[in-house]
Amino acid sequence: EAAAQSLVAKQRVTAKGSEVPQAVETFEELGERYGLSNQLLSNLSKNGFSTPTGIQSHGVPILLNSRDLAAISPTGTGKTIAYLLPILGALKTPNGKADGSGVRAVIVAPTRELAHQIHNECLKLAEGRKWRIVLFSKATASTLADKSVRDKIDIIISTPLRLVVSLQAGTLDLKNVRHLVLDEADRLLDAEFLSQTQEIVAACSRTDIQKAVFSATLPAGAEKIAMEMLHNPIRVVVGLKDT
Ligand code: ADP
Ligand code: MG
Repeated sequence: EAAAQSLVAKQRVTAKGSEVPQAVETFEELGERYGLSNQLLSNLSKNGFSTPTGIQSHGVPILLNSRDLAAISPTGTGKTIAYLLPILGALKTPNGKADGSGVRAVIVAPTRELAHQIHNECLKLAEGRKWRIVLFSKATASTLADKSVRDKIDIIISTPLRLVVSLQAGTLDLKNVRHLVLDEADRLLDAEFLSQTQEIVAACSRTDIQKAVFSATLPAGAEKIAMEMLHNPIRVVVGLKDT
């Protein structure tokens, strides 16, 4: 925690775009300003997160204002919480009961290992609520062939290929997704994954969808593609001061 706090102090943040929402200095401000639940806030502190990092203090208000975001922040600066917190805040109640309306949030990561880590972080943050948070794998994909099962899912965390296979098989639809995050977007937008990523983005067909890309670096080519995918985005760049 001490290490994370000194990291916070050494971060320099720039945010560009129209009407950039004001950053927060504490997680509590998110409760006051955006009605983030006490349960979410207490899960943060339970996990030892006492002060937001640069990308969290700037990125979370942007996402809670329903804006699209391109976030570039170095490895280890807490990008995962920066997108998970607003998703859990915005979804409010689990899909649960009868007329579940289908997957509402999708987080795409380039490797299974990373998807697994994101899933763990999400479960910690969501503790105490009955969210259905699914780490997409071959095994979970087959259970989703049952529409009544997949309609109750709140959040899917997956590699691109898993999603594309299920989309093509017609055993998954992303028509009700309101939040799409591309994590380690530099990789998701490079030659290896680009066409899969584009297929996923296209399948998320709600016009009011919120999209965000997160990366430690974003080469010019990937950045151009990212900015074209996003609607009126805000671009946040975090640099570590070298003092
Ligand atoms: P990134 O994706 O930017 O590389 P991660 O999201 O993996 O970074 O976070 C790196 C580490 O920092 C994780 O162990 C995470 O739990 C921790 N962390 C995230 N946010 C905070 C915070 N506000 N305070 C303290 N630790 C944090
Ligand atoms: Mg990360």
